[in-house]
Amino acid sequence: MPETRSESSRWIDLEDQWSAHNYHPLDVVIARGEGIWVWDVEGNKYLDFLAAYSALNQGYGHPRIVAALVEQAKELALTSRAFRNDKFGPFCEKLSKLLGYDKTLMMNTGAEAVETAIKASRRWGYQVKGVPTDQAEIIVFDGNFHGRTTTIVSFSTDEGARSGYGPFTPGFKIAPFGDLEATRALFTENTVAILVEPIQGEGGVIIPPADFLPGLRKLCDERNALLICDEIQSGLGRAGALLAHTLTGVRADGVTIGKALSGGLYPVSAFLADDAVMGVFDPGSHGSTYGGNPLACAVAEAALDVIIDEQLVEKSAKLGKYLEERLRAFDLPIVKEIRVAGLWAGIELTPEAGGARKVSEALRGEGLLCKETHVHTLRLAPPLIITKDELDWALERIEKVLRAI
Ligand SMILES: *Cc1c(COP(=O)(O)O)cnc(C)c1O
Repeated sequence: MPETRSESSRWIDLEDQWSAHNYHPLDVVIARGEGIWVWDVEGNKYLDFLAAYSALNQGYGHPRIVAALVEQAKELALTSRAFRNDKFGPFCEKLSKLLGYDKTLMMNTGAEAVETAIKASRRWGYQVKGVPTDQAEIIVFDGNFHGRTTTIVSFSTDEGARSGYGPFTPGFKIAPFGDLEATRALFTENTVAILVEPIQGEGGVIIPPADFLPGLRKLCDERNALLICDEIQSGLGRAGALLAHTLTGVRADGVTIGKALSGGLYPVSAFLADDAVMGVFDPGSHGSTYGGNPLACAVAEAALDVIIDEQLVEKSAKLGKYLEERLRAFDLPIVKEIRVAGLWAGIELTPEAGGARKVSEALRGEGLLCKETHVHTLRLAPPLIITKDELDWALERIEKVLRAI
């Protein structure tokens, strides 16, 4: 692999000079993407094993989704919700039916979908449960990632995401992820919801004990609170199910989705719930200029069609089992733990390995792009359209790099 610093440095320098330094990217400057592959400005080819944190479950530039985007862009892109448009109703019907909820509320980014879930839960608490004004509490979990707004970082436990952004929004209590008893202890009569990632993605693909989500469900039923699952990263096939939390036999009262909802082409997110919850919104109580625009609806409809027609959920479950077998067979002393759900894996390295950043940089040298999360964990999340042969190609490289440490 040639030394990329030389040629790519032009773009890297521009970025460093003109863009805020709120990320620490690998020094690969991507110029083109197709399927599971990307090419940098020098023509080097890489397999993308991160898939934009699951936004690219359908792969780069999926022809069906691109066609939908282009066609709709020519027809009608944005009306705002001041007027109705002919794509919005049919799409909300399709998404609601697919995920099994009465109603959909469309937004753009994942963080906005989570904000919507928080607003819905609080209003439900006041209007339906009868919590005294401004006393609503939501239980969240240690190691969570739900986005970057000031309210959401108010209940982050990641100092990097939080530090310097106070004063913070009150009304959140943080329990250890996976600990039912501690969660129960935080419940009060003002608890309106539990907000949880079924599997913590940014946390490093942390899978809670099998009885955790069923236990939260039971707790919410007993104490009259909503179970809200943030499926923005775990959902739409990544974990081997359309919604990861359903793998535990549970149904959430509300879900947030985003990322793969548009197959990497356009920011589209949504909050879904039944009428008893969604009914708390009335005209003027919430909204977004771009939320539910016809271009978003057309793109998201095609993105869902691809997931269904190409059986990406089933593929993720099946290839995920193979991925897990292969990773476990590496049997390396520098690997502390391997966590796999569908085509989604966290490889946690021992401190002796010297950090996962080094591994992602070495993998990039082998033509494989992925990224560390926190210091010691490598997160693997290839596009779900990957074939078994391509997966083998990647696994060979991962094994080679890990063995060389
Ligand atoms: C990415 C993510 C978000 C935030 O989505 P954005 O589109 O970046 O705002 C929220 N929740 C989870 C679980 C995520 O993975």
